Amino acid sequence: MRLATSLYAASFGSRPGAAASAPGRLNLLGEHTEYNGGVVLPIALERRTAVAVAPARDWAVVSQLDRIPLEIDVPQALRGDWTDYLVGVVRELEAIGAAPLGARVAVASTLPVGAGLSSSAALTVAAARALSQLAGRRLAPAQLLEIAYRAEHDQLGVRRGRMDQTIAALGMRGTALLVELGVGTVVRLPFPGRLWVVETGVSHPPPGDELINQRRRECEEALAFCREWRLGLPHLAQLAPGDLEEVERRLPPPLIPRVRYVVTETARTRAAASALAAGDLPGIGRLMVQGHESLRVDYQYSVPEADLIVQSAVAHGACGARLSGAGWGGAVTVLAPEERAARIMAEVGRDYADRFGRVPDMWSSRAAAGVRREALPAMVG
Ligand code: ADP
Ligand code: MG
Repeated sequence: MRLATSLYAASFGSRPGAAASAPGRLNLLGEHTEYNGGVVLPIALERRTAVAVAPARDWAVVSQLDRIPLEIDVPQALRGDWTDYLVGVVRELEAIGAAPLGARVAVASTLPVGAGLSSSAALTVAAARALSQLAGRRLAPAQLLEIAYRAEHDQLGVRRGRMDQTIAALGMRGTALLVELGVGTVVRLPFPGRLWVVETGVSHPPPGDELINQRRRECEEALAFCREWRLGLPHLAQLAPGDLEEVERRLPPPLIPRVRYVVTETARTRAAASALAAGDLPGIGRLMVQGHESLRVDYQYSVPEADLIVQSAVAHGACGARLSGAGWGGAVTVLAPEERAARIMAEVGRDYADRFGRVPDMWSSRAAAGVRREALPAMVG
């Protein structure tokens, strides 16, 4: 929070009037199920994005990424840079009469940006909270979720579901959320543990966007085939594992493993929710490893760096590990017994450095709270 208030002061020479923050997220299970109408099981991270604001006649925004205050014009075309996320939020707030006429905005984050940990939803949800407050409105977390979702989806054209905004808005300490994306329900499950994040530092070849779009197209194609015998099937994730035999008989061979991944991942995510409810961390770990294996083999969506981290973590005693984030190469999530985690992660770092010649960034987090208003420090300095 101090980062955002001191950036505000350094950039605009005054104190902000309000501030809010929202977390990034890790997804325990349910990767690539989002756009197939399935379930996801994310936690909110302790690492957050803070947005400090004060009213003004026009719009000027600054991020710690470039530290250059920029003027933005809300009705004008998007600029194609990070400020579009704020413009998207302001436009959606305007649509419900909850935007200020103008503002100074400073954004600072402890999240890695663009690493598959949902820095974009942390930014949009926090901005929606802070800016609606300037307009004298107190929006509920569920409303902030919708504003942030529409900012990314409708305004910026990011073709993703609501997972990131949901956890950024509704996350709770010590809690994972089972989110049914097809129907929009959320179930809270205890997650008292700690997760480790290993940033691979790599993106997918071919570029992540191209690969994810290819997978989405394949899933749409597979759904069209499935609808020939399951009339009205809403999403691939509504197929049961028992349907896979029929899938194998009817679909073109390249599409079969894609469907197998989506269907088994959905089943694994539900199984992980039951394991969480029973406090069975080793059970969740096994499901994570199975998920990673199917992601690698069936969905062909891993990178060698992630495969090595998963292998190494499990070999050194972690409960489980898997590549997290459906966008770019991103980060591997490791679930390990807390008393042994430091040693396990040190071994993972060593194995990674032996193979790839550098030590990856690693850090840990418990399940944290969702969006919240932030108190402003008494003195900004
Ligand atoms: P992810 O959400 O997984 O981090 P995205 O590609 O969805 O990756 O979002 C990253 C984009 O969000 C950045 O390229 C930038 O435009 C914007 N963004 C996120 N955090 C910040 C920040 N602290 N300052 C400025 N822009 C940010
Ligand atoms: Mg994002």
